[in-house]
Amino acid sequence: MSDSRTRLQQVLQDLGLDLGAFEGQDWSIRAPRDGVVLAGVKSHSAEQAQAALAQAHQAWLGWRGVPAPVRGELVRRFGELLRRHKAALGELVSLEAGKIAAEGQGEVQEMIDICDFALGLSRQLHGLTIASERPGHRMMETWHPMGVVGIISAFNFPVAVWSWNAALALVCGNAIVWKPSEKTPLTAIACQQLLRQAMEAFNADQPGTVPEGLSQLLIGGRELGEALAASPLVPVLSATGSTRMGRQVAVKVAERFGRAILELGGNNAMIVTPTADLELAARAITFAAVGTAGQRCTTLRRLIVHASVADALLARLAQIYQSIAIGDPLQQGTLVGPLIDRAAFDAMQRALEQARAEGGQVLGGERVRADLGQDAWYVRPALVQMPGQSAVVQRETFAPILYVLRYGGDTGAAIALQNAVPQGLSSAIFTQSLADAERFMSAAGSDCGIANVNIGTSGAEIGGAFGGEKETGGGRESGSDAWKGYMRRATNTINYSGALPLAQGVRFDV
Ligand code: NAD
Repeated sequence: MSDSRTRLQQVLQDLGLDLGAFEGQDWSIRAPRDGVVLAGVKSHSAEQAQAALAQAHQAWLGWRGVPAPVRGELVRRFGELLRRHKAALGELVSLEAGKIAAEGQGEVQEMIDICDFALGLSRQLHGLTIASERPGHRMMETWHPMGVVGIISAFNFPVAVWSWNAALALVCGNAIVWKPSEKTPLTAIACQQLLRQAMEAFNADQPGTVPEGLSQLLIGGRELGEALAASPLVPVLSATGSTRMGRQVAVKVAERFGRAILELGGNNAMIVTPTADLELAARAITFAAVGTAGQRCTTLRRLIVHASVADALLARLAQIYQSIAIGDPLQQGTLVGPLIDRAAFDAMQRALEQARAEGGQVLGGERVRADLGQDAWYVRPALVQMPGQSAVVQRETFAPILYVLRYGGDTGAAIALQNAVPQGLSSAIFTQSLADAERFMSAAGSDCGIANVNIGTSGAEIGGAFGGEKETGGGRESGSDAWKGYMRRATNTINYSGALPLAQGVRFDV
């Protein structure tokens, strides 16, 4: 296996990226695949953060006046650069976040997809025209940019989630300030640099179109995220991460009546009914539960399987789990890469201990491939049969642990079990029964933001709105009409009648 540092040099060269200005001693960035230190970076200070916010605000004052389709052209150019550098950027994601090659590439593809989506959207930022009750009047709504959109992102989708926010925020006429995870600043530096290139090329063709400072990057710890949450210069803050983080950010933003788009933890479940195609279900379960080493917000964490098919399904899953290829994420054929760091491994072990104490039967979960690096944390995904939905099952442990619960009776019992956790991100049902599928998607069905039929819980497309309910935070990003979260709506009433009739028939003669 080639050393991560050597690979990093190659990737940086392919990207035409110089880390120079960011290098320092504040944070050591480790490659999860071998535990090797990739680079040291320096933190932005509180003063630098305030200066970046002020500059972004200033840039917004100009950008809001640029026609939306022209703003779309910037995002199109950025998407083109991403296409050109997909292989290198995808490998950087694998090096820094530990994703297998296909998922690293997939993450960059997701960025390209959202750029395409945002480009089309830049010609579709439309409001309604509404019938007025007054003669000679017209009523309509218009959508306007908000200002600076702050983006706080998590380590596990180091670039895609930023791009969902950035592409929409930019076509909607906003400036952006990004605080990436302290565990994955290198991919953020790379994206910022590519966006900068797109801006410079655009300005070379159409001088002065993109104001200086439109996109800012803040490298550092949570204190920089806290600064974004507190700043009145940030009317919209999109924060992705743990529910613990969201709880703090939400209060800070609400205190100043800002708008928060929260994308927080999940505790996603799949129901398998007696009519399910079990082979299809087993494959979907495996991708959703062990893919990205269980480190997706949409990772499948609870399997709620009907007692009549549980033994057959579990036997098949146990077989797959034993044979799954765990190892270097950059090696072809690997399906499960490493956990992000030792803290993630320790948290997984603690959860498994608690599961045992709560009556769970644990298969797997142990450390494997220690040969790949002293500080590289690979695990065999764990399958844990639980007697009930006890405390450990109700919280998100960010690791490949799949809790298996059996249900008897009808699908209503399974849906009730699924909904009886604090989180509400993603959910799925495997069934051949139309009635069960419809019930699952009905008002009395899954209470999650994502409810799938015969598909796993993870791997959403960018065309749909993404996000979840309850402790997942209620935010929506990416497709559908999620763009409305990045704009403000004005209702306009225009009087061309020459008289002044009042609404509701009120008379006020002067
Ligand atoms: P984390 O909460 O530790 O950190 C996320 C980001 O928040 C980091 O940039 C961090 O510096 C910042 N942060 C932490 N505390 C903060 C505070 N008090 N104020 C402001 N910023 C703060 O999360 P993580 O370990 O990087 O990521 C894993 C978590 O993210 C999981 O819970 C996962 O489910 C969640 N996640 C959710 C989604 C989603 O779309 N719902 C997507 C990806 C990850």
